[in-house]
Amino acid sequence: AVGIAIGSPEDEAAEMARHLVGANLAGHDSHGIGMIPDYVRLAKAGLLVPGRSLETLVDMGALLVFEAGRGCGQWMARRAMERGIGRAREMGCCTVALRNAAHVGRIGHYAEICAEAGMASVHFVNVADHDPLQAPFGCSDARLGTNPFAAALPGKRKPSVVLDMATSAIAFGKARVARNKGVPVPEGSLIDGEGMPTTDPTTYVDSRKGALRSFGLHKGSGLAVMCELMGAALTGGQTIQPAHPRHDGILNSMLSIIIDVEAIGDRDTLADEIDAVAGYIRRSPPAPGFERILMPGEPENLSRAQRRKEGIPLDTKSLSDILAAAIEAGVPDDCVTEIRKALT
Ligand code: NAD
Repeated sequence: AVGIAIGSPEDEAAEMARHLVGANLAGHDSHGIGMIPDYVRLAKAGLLVPGRSLETLVDMGALLVFEAGRGCGQWMARRAMERGIGRAREMGCCTVALRNAAHVGRIGHYAEICAEAGMASVHFVNVADHDPLQAPFGCSDARLGTNPFAAALPGKRKPSVVLDMATSAIAFGKARVARNKGVPVPEGSLIDGEGMPTTDPTTYVDSRKGALRSFGLHKGSGLAVMCELMGAALTGGQTIQPAHPRHDGILNSMLSIIIDVEAIGDRDTLADEIDAVAGYIRRSPPAPGFERILMPGEPENLSRAQRRKEGIPLDTKSLSDILAAAIEAGVPDDCVTEIRKALT
C-alpha cells in the first residue's frame, strides 16, 4: 500500500513489498520493512522515482549496461537480473552493469534469483548520494558507503550457497536496529566522532558522528574499495567521491557477473562438489563457543524457516516510524488502522 501511495505501479510496489518482507524473513531486519520511512522520504524528495523503466545503454551480447535513473531499486535490479540471466543462457555468461538505482535492498536476493535460474553469480555494489558511513582500514573517519558484496552458486537445495554481506563490519541498518532496540553493536564495528572504538550506536545513528569500520582489517577494506570501483566507477554509476553531488538519497550501482553453470560443466556435478566441500568443512569439530558450523546462506535459511512459523518480530519504534510514514504517504485509512492495531 505504501508503494502504491508513493506512485509505484502495482507490479513494482508488489516487488518492493516482497523484497522487504523477504529480507525480514531472511533475518535482515536492517533491509526489511523498516526501510519504508526512508523510501517515503526519498520519493517525496524526488530521490526515488517510482514507475521508471530500465534504460538499456549498451547491449553487446555478453555485456549489458542499464541506467536506472533513481528508479525503484528492487524493480530495476530484478529486471536487470532477468535480462542478464536470459543472455547468460544464450552466451554462457553475461556481465550486467546497473547504474544509479534507488536502494536495491538485500543483494543476496539477486544472487538467489541467479542461483534459482541455474546461474553462478558475483555482485559488486556501491552506495552513493549520501555521506559516507564506512571508515576504510587506517582511516579515522568515514570515506565509503557500506558497499555490499554477494556471490552465490546453485546447489541441490534451494536457495543454495549464498554469501551476502556489507563490507563494513555491520550494515548501517543493523546499527539502526540496535539503536531502536537499545542494545550495543558488536565490539570493533564502530568508531566515535574522535575515531575511538565504541559499542553505543545512539550518537552515530542519530547524528552520524563516527563511522562503521570495514570488516577484516585491510582485506575487507580492500574489498569495499573494489565494490566502489567495480560497482560504480567501472559501470558509470555515481561514486561517493565528493565531486559528485550528495542529496541525502541512496543510490546503488551494481556490477553483476552471471555464469551459466551448464555452459562450464554440469549442474549435478557442481551440486555434488558443493555438498562434498561443505560436508568436509562441517566435519571439523566446532571451535569453543560454536555449536555448529554453517555455510554462507544457512543463517538466512534457518531464519526463514523459523520466521515463517513464528512470524517476524518488530520493535515498537520501527512500527511507529512505519505508521508515520504510511500516513505521510497517504495510504488508505484501513491500512493505517491495521498498523495501529499491531502497535497496541
Ligand atoms: P551478515 O553479517 O548477517 O551475513 C554476512 C554473510 O555471512 C551471509 O552470507 C551469511 O549467510 C553469512 N553468515 C552469517 N553468520 C554466519 C555463520 N555463523 N556461519 C557462516 N556464515 C555466516 O550480513 P551483513 O553484512 O550485516 O549484511 C546484511 C544485509 O545488508 C545484506 O543482505 C546486504 O546485501 C545488505 N546491504 C545492502 C546495502 C545496500 O546499499 N543495498 C548496503 C549494505 C548491506
